[in-house]
Amino acid sequence: MSASPVGGMVTTTVDNLANWGRKSSLWPALFGLACCAIEMMATGGARFDMARFGSEVFRASPRQADLMIVAGRVSAKMAPAVRQIYEQMPGPKWVIAMGACASCGGVFNNYAIVQGVDLIVPVDVYVAGCPPNPEALLEGFQILQKKIMAGVPNPPDPMSYAPEVVSDPNFGRTR
Ligand code: SF4
Repeated sequence: MSASPVGGMVTTTVDNLANWGRKSSLWPALFGLACCAIEMMATGGARFDMARFGSEVFRASPRQADLMIVAGRVSAKMAPAVRQIYEQMPGPKWVIAMGACASCGGVFNNYAIVQGVDLIVPVDVYVAGCPPNPEALLEGFQILQKKIMAGVPNPPDPMSYAPEVVSDPNFGRTR
């Protein structure tokens, strides 16, 4: 957006206006997977006040959410459910991988934990830490807001380029 030096007039584009609205009202899907979710809940509380960024409205229905915060480790059994929530969210939509476990499996380097949620959903922002504190999640929010405002496209969907990884919802487990 730009303002006239003589005042009274603001010019912008439709894209800028839409992106401004999107980044100012990110509504996260209401779910948590492990200990990182406790920090995510704290971020929504009065002390950290996620409402400052327009993101305090956690929605219990994916149909009403445009942001997925993957807060915690994703077990192989949970992976299809996480993917289903993502698919049920209307676009445009974004994903934050919160913490080491969601980003790369963390300390759980074993067959039961998905070694990075970017194997099943496209991740826009990774937040480091075990767990990341609320300030770190808020920084992730602001990074995502800047990307949305700049019109940065979402990363490619892993379902489209690594079908051998995600086609088996049990990730090779037989039981
Ligand atoms: S990154 Fe640490 S705090 Fe977060 S889910 Fe994994 S073990 Fe728990």
